[in-house]
Amino acid sequence: MSVFQQERLLFNPATPENNAIPAIFAFPNEYTIGITSLGFQIVWATLAMRSDVDVSRLFTDLSEPLPRNPQLLGFSVSWELDYVNIFNLLESLDIPLHSCDRTNNHPLVFGGGTVLTANPEPFADFFDVILLGDGENLLDSFIDAYQEVRNADRQTKLRHLAQVPGIYIPSLYEITYHSRDGEIKAIAPIDADIPSQVQKQTYRGNTLSTSTVVTEKAAWENIYMVEVVRSCPEMCRFCLASYLTLPFRIESVESSLIQSIEIGLKVTKRLGLLGASQPQYEDVRLSIASVRTNTVTEKLASTLANRDTRSITIAVESGSSKVRQIVNKKLTNEEIIQAAVNAKAGGLKALKLYGMVGIPMEEMSDVEETVTMMTAIK
Ligand code: SF4
Repeated sequence: MSVFQQERLLFNPATPENNAIPAIFAFPNEYTIGITSLGFQIVWATLAMRSDVDVSRLFTDLSEPLPRNPQLLGFSVSWELDYVNIFNLLESLDIPLHSCDRTNNHPLVFGGGTVLTANPEPFADFFDVILLGDGENLLDSFIDAYQEVRNADRQTKLRHLAQVPGIYIPSLYEITYHSRDGEIKAIAPIDADIPSQVQKQTYRGNTLSTSTVVTEKAAWENIYMVEVVRSCPEMCRFCLASYLTLPFRIESVESSLIQSIEIGLKVTKRLGLLGASQPQYEDVRLSIASVRTNTVTEKLASTLANRDTRSITIAVESGSSKVRQIVNKKLTNEEIIQAAVNAKAGGLKALKLYGMVGIPMEEMSDVEETVTMMTAIK
């Protein structure tokens, strides 16, 4: 059985119409990584549920049967370290790496995801189209607009797509510099028909994302992921998860969250909550990526321990209160120690700490304070 046959789908793919857009949607890493990305799952399902798109998936190690002449090639980009794999995939498909070298015979190469939304410029020369912001409404707007010009030449397509809010067409903007040291003077559209600013799109609906596919081949096997919150009110200064997706939104527990979880539990016993929450289910294996330190109560720890979780991860960033203040991490050393005490009392066997070194204004004495704190926790 192929890995694709082992997938359990939680949506109904449409049967593509005769003249559906032949499209490839790629994740620039191996299948096991890509299929564990909630963002990739959602975009793929959105495309596959449209009868006017015939989409095939591509990963660095395997793919579904690919169209001979795709019109669209999309990339979900979650990590900068995957950039090199985008080049490899473009080469394997015989598509020029630079947008300016592509012709009417090549597909439009589009991309979206956290990394491209945060800063599209390092990769702007290699994408024809960049989707900025939340994909929920933006993706359908993109496909709808593409349908209107799918038979036009490449320039007409790009100019038309540039009118859609949230769609950035790098080749239609010119960057000028003060000097050769790289400082930017201005970024301006090449003519008056192109919007001078592209507005990042923010999804304002109440329903957050859940897995559209569950498979034992995922990096966390058979996991069903539920987005419990989007963004974070803590606003630590370095954190894209907070700033990039503001405003902070919570999935409604009574209606949609419980309903979503129940859908997942029909196909798996493993839940991944993106954000901390108190689970309500017996006999369910529960994974939480990391939790805010001051939410680690003994009850949360024992709930996790009873659901087959061994350890918990908290992000303390530094043992120095000065550094924590600089990054807006609102925590005291006492709260950190208390989280460790609670984790142990609740029955968890291990504690992992996320931290950073090299923050502006940090001194060696701050690093030493981190060592002291870790020794105290131990
Ligand atoms: S608490 Fe975590 S998720 Fe929230 S802003 Fe800080 S680092 Fe980001």
